[in-house]
Amino acid sequence: MPAPRYRGRFAPSPTGLLHAGSLAAALASWLDARAHRGQWLLRIEDVDGPRCVTGADAAIVAQLAACGLVPDEPPQWQSARGVHYETALVKLVAEGWAYPCGCTRADIERALVQQGRLRERHGDLVYPGTCRSGLRGKPARALRLRVTPSIDAPAAPLDIAWHDRRLGAQQQCVSEAVGDFVLRRADDLWAYQLAVVVDDAAQGITHVVRGVDLADNTPRQIHLQRVLGLATPAYLHTPLALGADGEKLSKRNGAVPVATGADPLAALRDAARLLDVHAEGTRVPDWLTSATAHWAARWRAV
Ligand code: GLU
Repeated sequence: MPAPRYRGRFAPSPTGLLHAGSLAAALASWLDARAHRGQWLLRIEDVDGPRCVTGADAAIVAQLAACGLVPDEPPQWQSARGVHYETALVKLVAEGWAYPCGCTRADIERALVQQGRLRERHGDLVYPGTCRSGLRGKPARALRLRVTPSIDAPAAPLDIAWHDRRLGAQQQCVSEAVGDFVLRRADDLWAYQLAVVVDDAAQGITHVVRGVDLADNTPRQIHLQRVLGLATPAYLHTPLALGADGEKLSKRNGAVPVATGADPLAALRDAARLLDVHAEGTRVPDWLTSATAHWAARWRAV
């Protein structure tokens, strides 16, 4: 069977305008798609409504367009795709993979202390599996996915080995590092993990290129793909822009919106420096052609 044609995507959360870091992720995904003569799609990840900023979606589309990064299909908004997440969740519940959880954060903390293994990961607690065998009278809050290699072996650890085109061989014991994770949140919002997996499959994404801060989510997404019977795309996680404090660039440590309107080429050159991409040209289209050739020489065969 011929390999599916390359389809890549950029999937920003519209919590603000693009800054140097997010523009670099956009550029990397666009360059990889062009280097493979593939398609590049744009998905607005606005499932976390309260964190989204009104108008940021349109502003991001405009910033990308000013940089010559124009999607090959009309953009998709996750806020319009709830029915698809619901269908996936219903299937997972019916098969026993997903279950309701009635724990508050305090309940989880208490259970972990009792087990002598209270530890956090990026502010998240490793879920101890309290509601796996039932709610015991508590009202359901979130829905979680079982993190185990097989529904028939609930106690078996889930180790996911995967390959990143830049980072090489990767591995995570998801049951140890994360535990059963949330698919629909207590506030009724869809969790990023479910939405991204359902949408990458629905849009036929073959290659995911995104910032390395998201690499840690990949094993959870691969597990979800497997239990939903979906294909796993190829992954490439790009270096991150760092703020003055050496942490990932964010609004908190000085990320400013890239001034694509004033000087898109300067914004692209900054993004390229971060990605270690060399390109020449004094107009955006020529510069992008040159950058694509450089990217292709380095990443096409990887
Ligand atoms: N929406 C996510 C973010 O902006 C990115 C999702 C992805 O590329 O998988 O951090």
